[in-house]
Formats: sequence, C-alpha cells, structure tokens
Amino acid sequence: MNGKRGFYIGRFQPYHNGHQSVLEHIANKVDEIIIGIGSAQLSHSVENPFTAGERVMMITRALESLGCRYYVIPIEDVQRNALWVAHVRSMAPPFDTCYSSNPLVVRLFSEARVNVQSPAMSERDTLSGTEIRRRMLAGESWEELVPPAVVQVLNEIDGVGRLRQIARTD
Ligand code: NAP
Repeated sequence: MNGKRGFYIGRFQPYHNGHQSVLEHIANKVDEIIIGIGSAQLSHSVENPFTAGERVMMITRALESLGCRYYVIPIEDVQRNALWVAHVRSMAPPFDTCYSSNPLVVRLFSEARVNVQSPAMSERDTLSGTEIRRRMLAGESWEELVPPAVVQVLNEIDGVGRLRQIARTD
C-alpha cells in the first residue's frame, strides 16, 4: 500500500483519554498509524509503573474501533539523543509524518527532516499520566480519565496495587 503513515510516540503511563482523542484526530489524517511506546524498557517505578507489554494491551484494546489500521511498537530509550530518530526508524514501519508535542521529539525529528505536527491535547489539568498516577496513589477516582478497556487491563494486572506497593518506603 502507498498510503500515508503517521507516527505518534508517548510513554503511555498509563494510556488515557487525551491520547485517545489525539489518535482519533490523527486517524482522520492518515491511512495507517504507528504508535511508538517510548521508554519501553522502564516499568515498576512510580513514574513508569507499567511494562511495554501491558501498555501494548491498553492501547490495542482501547483502539479496537478506531477504523484505521495501527501498529503498536515498543521503543527503548538510547543514550544518545542524536541517534534516536535513526533508532526509531530502525524499529517502526516507514512513516511520513511524526505527531508529537514533546519539544525534544519535535526538535530531533525536525533536524532529521521529518515532517512534524503537534496535535493539541485537551483538558491537560486532568488528562495527564502524572495526574492519573497521583489519583491512583491517593485513592481518588481515575477510571473516568481512561478508556474502559484500560480500566479492564489495569484491573487484570493489579496496576493500582503495584503502584501503591512500589511507592511505599520500607
Ligand atoms: P514524555 O517525556 O513521556 O512526556 C512529556 C509530556 O508530554 C507528558 O506530560 C505527556 O503527557 C505530554 N504529552 C504527550 N502527548 C501530548 C500532546 N499531544 N499534547 C500535550 N502534551 C502531550 O514524552 P512523550 O512525548 O509522552 O514520549 C516521548 C518518548 O520518547 C519518551 O519515552 C522518551 O523517553 C522518548 N525519547 C527518547 C529519546 C532517547 O532515547 N534518546 C529521545 C527523545 C525521546 P502524559 O504524561 O499525559 O502522557
């Protein structure tokens, strides 16, 4: 196929409604979406509680009705920012445009002459991974901030229990 492919990268700790609405927007612009799971090597920490595989499950299940073909590719960090775009390209299907609002990601792709678009994420006060992890730790409600499929995955893996346990001091 010769269609347009877009690349969207995030840590997705966890995947939430803000990511979902950005991806629904991108789905109207391209024929296929590549979703890169950044910092794939990190898990079991307060900032990065979930494994790459668990994040693959959240995204794959949440996007089942997207109506656009998508690929979910875990991407580990590398020590050298200057080599990161080549590293991403070595792991992902070929793409025309990168969608990101992260200044470093925008800069690195622009320097590599890749077309970059910065989709706005709405309701950033509540729709953020940091806020969702804070609510999980505080015992506040977070379920309405993520797609129902993500609630299901997090229940299956005892995601909140893990986060609370690793946040404890001994
Ligand atoms: P990040 O550093 O994980 O998060 C940056 C912030 O941007 C987060 O608060 C995130 O929100 C937010 N964000 C994500 N999409 C957004 C949007 N459309 N509008 C507004 N804010 C948005 O960065 P990331 O962009 O999610 O992921 C980039 C990944 O690339 C990371 O895993 C990073 O390590 C990797 N990377 C690696 C290298 C290297 O290995 N040398 C170089 C560059 C980038 P949420 O917390 O709500 O998601």
